[in-house]
Amino acid sequence: MTTVFTNYYDSHVHSVNSSDAVDSVEAICAHAIRIGLKGIAFTDHCDIDAGDERCERVRRGIVSDVIEARDLYGNDLRVSAGIELGEAHHNPGLARRISGDASVDFVIGSLHRMRGEEDFYHIDYENTDIDALMRRYYEELYELVENGCFDVVGHINYQPRYMSERAKRSLDLPRYYSDLFEILKSVARQGKGIEINTSGLWRNQGDTIPSSDVLKLFFKAGGEIVTIGSDSHNLRSVGLEIFSAMEKLKLTGLSRFAFFSGRVPEIIDIE
Ligand SMILES: [Zn+2]
Repeated sequence: MTTVFTNYYDSHVHSVNSSDAVDSVEAICAHAIRIGLKGIAFTDHCDIDAGDERCERVRRGIVSDVIEARDLYGNDLRVSAGIELGEAHHNPGLARRISGDASVDFVIGSLHRMRGEEDFYHIDYENTDIDALMRRYYEELYELVENGCFDVVGHINYQPRYMSERAKRSLDLPRYYSDLFEILKSVARQGKGIEINTSGLWRNQGDTIPSSDVLKLFFKAGGEIVTIGSDSHNLRSVGLEIFSAMEKLKLTGLSRFAFFSGRVPEIIDIE
């Protein structure tokens, strides 16, 4: 168990700067050390559609919190100041400015909302053409990836869960894999990565986000960089199911993952 703990990193944790988080960076760091984490990346939500002022405030907030946390806990825990940059392609200039700031260690690029649509969580799927929506999702995800303002793409295919639950029918995801493969090829070509989000496991959805077959598709596309993160919004879920995600990663044939500092991935072997 001791050797496993040397690899216990969480690359996707939100702090008080996120609208729905309740625990401070300091409290989360103290908890992370207690449970044996060696590194943690705070990636507070920075949705580009929220505009200049809000994004700057999130970036400045997380960076100053992380600097304070490093003073307190830096000997025991590696702490990265990240952002989860939502919809970067909607405003490429602002996205470049926020993600390009030298104080940012790590950028997760995510798509939670498409142009002219609500957040995926709020869409009425019973009265929506889901196939058309999925096609648009991959078109916009391709745009986001080509825009290049990220280190890893966050939680690919997270929204089909809402779609199938609320539309009360299952979704045949492999039919979209040719679209997804083009996206993954672009990520790989840029030397960037994707994340394995463990919230699908700890929220009892039965799999990581994305699933193992998407990971395999990424490796087939030439991709090599993978981070593992819990998508935690409070200290109770920090680090949850990280080991299960490592096991899944190993089963797909990759025995290492990445942890970012200063936008540079350190590759860590899974023991
Ligand atoms: Zn997200």
